[in-house]
Amino acid sequence: MQQYDYIIAGAGASGLSLAWKMLHSPLSKKKVLILDQSLSPSHDKTWCFWDAEAPPFADLIYRKWTKAEISIFGTRSIEHLNNYTYYCLRSVDFQNHILNQLTDHSHFDLLEAPVKELSFDGSNPTLHTDTNTFKADYIFQSCFNPWDNTNSQPRYPLLQHFLGWEITTSKPVFDDSFFTLMDFDKTFESGIAFIYLLPWSKNSALIEYTIFSNTLLEKKKYEEKVSLYLSNRFKLKPVDYSIKRKEFGKIPMEDRPHKPWYKPGILNLGTVGGVTKPSTGYTFKRIQKQTDQIVENLLSGRDLQPQPPSKKRFKAYDLWLLHIIDRHPKDALQIFNHLFKNNSLDDVFRFLAEESSIQDDLKIMSSVPHAPFLRAIWKTRSRLREI
Ligand SMILES: Cc1cc2nc3c(=O)[nH]c(=O)nc-3n(C[C@H](O)[C@H](O)[C@H](O)COP(=O)(O)OP(=O)(O)OC[C@H]3O[C@@H](n4cnc5c(N)ncnc54)[C@H](O)[C@@H]3O)c2cc1C
Repeated sequence: MQQYDYIIAGAGASGLSLAWKMLHSPLSKKKVLILDQSLSPSHDKTWCFWDAEAPPFADLIYRKWTKAEISIFGTRSIEHLNNYTYYCLRSVDFQNHILNQLTDHSHFDLLEAPVKELSFDGSNPTLHTDTNTFKADYIFQSCFNPWDNTNSQPRYPLLQHFLGWEITTSKPVFDDSFFTLMDFDKTFESGIAFIYLLPWSKNSALIEYTIFSNTLLEKKKYEEKVSLYLSNRFKLKPVDYSIKRKEFGKIPMEDRPHKPWYKPGILNLGTVGGVTKPSTGYTFKRIQKQTDQIVENLLSGRDLQPQPPSKKRFKAYDLWLLHIIDRHPKDALQIFNHLFKNNSLDDVFRFLAEESSIQDDLKIMSSVPHAPFLRAIWKTRSRLREI
């Protein structure tokens, strides 16, 4: 049995963000174990977010844009972002950078091993691998969903799921001065679907077919949509490009309450910590807020007091939208249409980042069709009390 001050179980976005922040604070004197089933950096996720200030991990930003395209019901518009910049970071760069720094630090140990179990022995949280047991004052875990093995089910079991291709072309076809946030597919009826396109250069881009719904598709269906988009929009045939990489993801659009503790002394981090914004799937920036709060809290010397990831009113807006996407996807499409038509993208981003005032929220709410929301408010009233 080995004893640490802190154990970070899971070295993905949240675990490594926390480790990095500990390393760059007086907590670097603590003894910390960071453990993951794989510590090999992988180029499998592209994390994007918007920020009005200097972004987290600024030196690692891969691309950024201040113009975004939205296309819905045949109207295509490109808008300047005045307050925000949209940033993109690659998981491989992030993991390489942080793991290298951790390797060089004598108080921080890295271990590649699957976590078998997390338990509490009455006084200490404990982590078990096949061959070892580790104890700590706190364990921060992003490995296990605290809702698994419970009877609780989401009311709206929605996922944001997507499959994309990173391609290169011999001819310059992409305008890399803007990215495409959402190019809606109005032919898709059992949820909301859209293309998300990040141009790395005029000859290279990541193009993802993204769906908000409760059922995954066969992988080839997403790929057919990407291929069709490349053909319709850019006149690209399969011989005109080569696929360098594929990116698949499924992100929970969770409507269950925030569950901060896995077991006593074991705090849930990142997606399993309920940090993902339910209505958008964006998580990376919210992980930064969660991990900043943890470090601040630990430095204060007081017991850890995790903050809920969202204020109550934002939880309500998310729940209403989940209800509409799940039960009335056509209404949801109309809501997106009015949202983007009647508001600047800066205002939409401020609202989705939960940085808006109540007056800003009322302006957004009054810009979209009211009837679906009135129905959602009524239908979700009991659920809202639980979250
Ligand atoms: C493909 C993809 C793209 C995304 N893009 C964005 C984006 O653009 N913007 C955004 O805000 N969010 C995005 N997200 C959502 C979210 O930011 C990511 O999922 C992010 O990685 C979540 O961080 P995490 O630390 O919670 O989980 P992860 O990064 O998945 O980390 C969990 C870690 O735990 C390890 N682990 C799990 N089980 C065990 C075990 N039993 N033993 C040991 N280790 C274990 C895993 O190996 C992993 O390294 C994306 C998600 C995906 C899947």
